[in-house]
Amino acid sequence: MKIKKIDHIAIVVEDIDDALGFWRDALGLTLSHVEDVPDQQSIVAFLPTGESEVELVKPTSDDSGVARFLNKRGPGIHHICFEVEDIEEALASLRADGVRLINETPQIGTGGKKIAFIHPESTHGVLVEMYELTGQEPEVRLARARRLADRALASGQAAASSALEFLRGLGGNGR
Ligand code: ZN
Repeated sequence: MKIKKIDHIAIVVEDIDDALGFWRDALGLTLSHVEDVPDQQSIVAFLPTGESEVELVKPTSDDSGVARFLNKRGPGIHHICFEVEDIEEALASLRADGVRLINETPQIGTGGKKIAFIHPESTHGVLVEMYELTGQEPEVRLARARRLADRALASGQAAASSALEFLRGLGGNGR
């Protein structure tokens, strides 16, 4: 199996803006964008650092896996994701080693990206995600970011309050 890098570390939070107070403001990481991820019923804030990203994940419904995690264990590291060259091959290799997989076959997400999770029972307590990048993904991400912006504009909700804060910042010496 060929692991290319840690793609991201996902951290479940109760409130994105509140969490940005540490991860962006105190730590100094850059917020690249906030994305609506409907198939994971989450809003995700991306903070790239080197070749990897910190992802702050806030559940948008009460019955998703992420929401259950938050209710049960509180905020914290949810999973670590490795980018692999060939996910089918990686899963076959793990299976051959007797590793317990949550997804026996890769889940195909929007844009054709392939992911699979390894059970914490086999990893010494950490949920591990394997991920194979596909060519279409940048376009999909852009579309999602647009949708989120549209929704925030339409509803005036706090989802894009970071963006609003940024815009207010541009306003300069106003309030
Ligand atoms: Zn992930």
